[in-house]
This record gives sequence, structure tokens and C-alpha cells, in this order.
Amino acid sequence: MILCHNARLLTLDKLRPVLERQQILVDNGVIAAVGKDLKIAGLPIRQRIDCTGKIVMPGLINTHSHLTEILQRSFRDNLRMEVWRGYRARTEELANPTAAEIGAAAALACAEMLKNGVTAVVDHFSTRPGLSEPKMMAIVRAFEQTGIRGVLTPSLLDRDFVEIVAAKRAARAQAKKPKVPWQEQVLPMLSHLKQSAATVSLMLGPSSPFSCSDELVREVVEMAEQHDLGIHTHLLETKLQRWGGRQLYPEGLGKRMQRLGLFSQRLSAAHCVWVNEREMDAMAAAGVNAVHNPASNLKLGSGIAPVVAMKKRGINVSLGTDGGDTSDSYTIFEQIRLAALLSRVNTENSDEWVTALDALRMGTINGAQAVPAWRGKIGKIAKGYRADLVILRPNLRLTPAADVVNQLVFCESGQSVDTVMVDGKIVVKDGRLLSMREEEVMRKVLPISRRMQRHYRALVHQEPPQSESTVRQLYRKAFDV
Ligand SMILES: [Zn+2]
Repeated sequence: MILCHNARLLTLDKLRPVLERQQILVDNGVIAAVGKDLKIAGLPIRQRIDCTGKIVMPGLINTHSHLTEILQRSFRDNLRMEVWRGYRARTEELANPTAAEIGAAAALACAEMLKNGVTAVVDHFSTRPGLSEPKMMAIVRAFEQTGIRGVLTPSLLDRDFVEIVAAKRAARAQAKKPKVPWQEQVLPMLSHLKQSAATVSLMLGPSSPFSCSDELVREVVEMAEQHDLGIHTHLLETKLQRWGGRQLYPEGLGKRMQRLGLFSQRLSAAHCVWVNEREMDAMAAAGVNAVHNPASNLKLGSGIAPVVAMKKRGINVSLGTDGGDTSDSYTIFEQIRLAALLSRVNTENSDEWVTALDALRMGTINGAQAVPAWRGKIGKIAKGYRADLVILRPNLRLTPAADVVNQLVFCESGQSVDTVMVDGKIVVKDGRLLSMREEEVMRKVLPISRRMQRHYRALVHQEPPQSESTVRQLYRKAFDV
């Protein structure tokens, strides 16, 4: 048993978000009790953590990310998503990273997250030239080795959005079938995970409704229902997708998703920058979760998601970092701050803004709600929840401390993280990662990233591919409307 005592505890409850002088008892990975004067006499407590002067909060939850994109961290600037994605994919294709290299990259991203207080992550995993069991296994091992709670979410697609929107045809587009059917790759992972670590699980990740045929979406929904899995996708991230959706689906993109059974509580949809009123109503009615990725949407010029309108309808909105080359970091504190600030840009009534407390909830309990495997299990420090928590030692940015909730949102960026616990296991202590040698992970990743950089530089000096000028032309049309 572990006892944290004399903690300033962040409950994140609306009425009493902060409680003083709290004890938290952790037994076998679970929070066994929380309170002021717990009856602990005679209990086999093997570790006591003195939290005097410290803040204890639920672990932060990253509900949309691409971990291996860390290999292309900050490679690019001023490119729209579809052009940017083309470069990212071609660079990776040329570098063709091995499973071991993918594992090292994922471990580096997990190390960064843990040290910044992120205890759980959804990795929407895509890789070039394609998925394979050893590559997916490498992500699982990175979760296990670093100690983070992780959801492997293999990205699935059978068509290219730019191709179908340029050709103005979706229904008749020929699906690109992988050599090995996706079910044959994913099912062994599922049975492996069921038998192994309790902290690693699986979701299905149709890349976006545009890049999946009706047939593929139906297969995904069917498997999710059969095995009780969550589904994760990118939804209406860019203006080009909004415009393309109108060209491709006369019934409406939202209607199509409803018809295919994709809108349900199983679904978490990343970005949602361009969802319209009708789609938001349908999402709310079906219990769809939205994942806000503010830094990525800003860097790629995609826009600002209508978080206030979604929250007003009761849609659960959580936070994600997206990848290492779109928000350039894997820290949720940054997304929390942006979520609060950006909600004020287009909302006249200040009562409707995302408050500091709302933003912290988006980064914790709402993240747990977005993932079926985590619902009711993490995101909160309360009896019966898994013990995923962060202890902060207030640094200069939290000094002078006046209002903990406000300051964690508007001042903190991760430097105060002192101790991190995942499933009752301490993985960061005194600000240092315990599970692996940080320097070693950095050393492993550098040569791979350099190789990618060389390929990327070579690509930039070549004539841009036809698809790039197609995207630029399509954007002109989309912005003309
Ligand atoms: Zn993404």
C-alpha cells in the first residue's frame, strides 16, 4: 500500500475543486480511500509520500496522438494539412523505419508525456509503407516499458481523400485492399492484449470517414460491437474536408456516418473543426465524443473547433496533442491552456467560455469518458478508480500561489511535475523517469530522425508531386465558396 499524505488535492468537482490536507491510500493499483483522517492504523503501508506544499491531481489524458511522428518533429512550417500529410507520409515511406525504430520513437514520446504529467494516451498509429504485427507490437512494448497507460489504435483506410475529391467520386472509387486483410492483423493484437497488461488496450481507428469506403466502416463497426471496442477517427479537420464532403456525399457526411452506424458512444472523433449544427446535434444525440486538438489546428491553419457549441449540446470534449510535427509537443498542459484561451475568440458571452476548471476536466475526466476502456476507471482521484495521479511541486510559474485551478491552466506547463503514478506504480520520481534511461531513448532515436531529415530535404528539392498542386487548387475552390 502507498499513502500520500497532507496533499492539496484537485477533485475537479464543480463545488469543491480543491481540498486541503488530504490522504490518498493506494492499494494494488486502485485508490482504496481518500479523506482527511483515514483509519490507517495496522495497514501494511510500504511507502509514504509526504505531499506537504504539493498539489495532487488526476493524471492528464491525451486522447489523440501519433507517437512515431516524433521522428519528424518540427520538420515543417506553413503547410496546410493535406500538403503537410503528403510530405510526412512520403518521408516515412522513404525512411521505412523498422519495428525497433518505431518502438524507440514511441518510447521517447511516452517519456515526454509521463514527465509532463500525461498518464494515458491514445496512439492513432499509422505507418508507412504499412501496418504490421511487429510494428504494432513495438508500440505496445513502448507503453509497457515506459509504464504509461496506452490504447493502440491502428489506423485503417482504403482510399485517398485528395484523389476522390479531385475526381468528385466517392461511391465508385476503387478500394485499395491491403495484402493482408486488416482483421487478420488486428485480431492477434487483440487476443495478445487480452491476456497481457491490464494497462494496454486496443481501439479501431478508421483514419477518417473520407478515407474509408462504406464497406470498411461497416466492418469496423461490426468488429467493435463484437469485441466491445472503442472507435477513433479524424473528423472534419480542414475546410477542404468540409467542402469535399459536400461534393462527395449528397446525403451529408454526418448522415452517412449515422447510416453506417459510426455515430455512437464508442466513437471519439478528433478535431471536429468544421462540424455543422446538424452534425453536432447528431453527435450529441448518439453520445459521440469530440477530441479537441487546438495546437495542431492552429499550426496547420485548420481553424478553431466549436468547443463552446459542442459543450452546450452536452457533447463530451476531451483533448489531444496530435503528432510531433503538428503541435510539436506531447504535453496536455499546453492543450488545456489553449482550450481555455481559444474558446474566447469567437464567443461573445463570457459566461459561455471554457473556464479553467472546464479545461482541466477536458484534460482529465473527459479524456477517460472518451475511451470505453477507461470510462469510470481513470480521470479522477476517488475511491475505486485506478491510481493514475500526478504530484506537482510548485515551481516559479506557480508562485505566488493564489488559485490552484486558474494557475494550473494559465501558468503551468509541466515543469512542476514531481511524481507520476500509473496504475499504482510510480514511474516518475523527483522529475526523473524511473522506467528507462532517458538519455538512452534519445540516443536511439537520433540516427533515425536524421535519416528522415535527409529524405525530407531531398523531397523538398524535388518538383512537388501533382497531388500538391491539386490540393492547392482545391483549397482555392473551398475558400471561394
Ligand atoms: Zn491526427
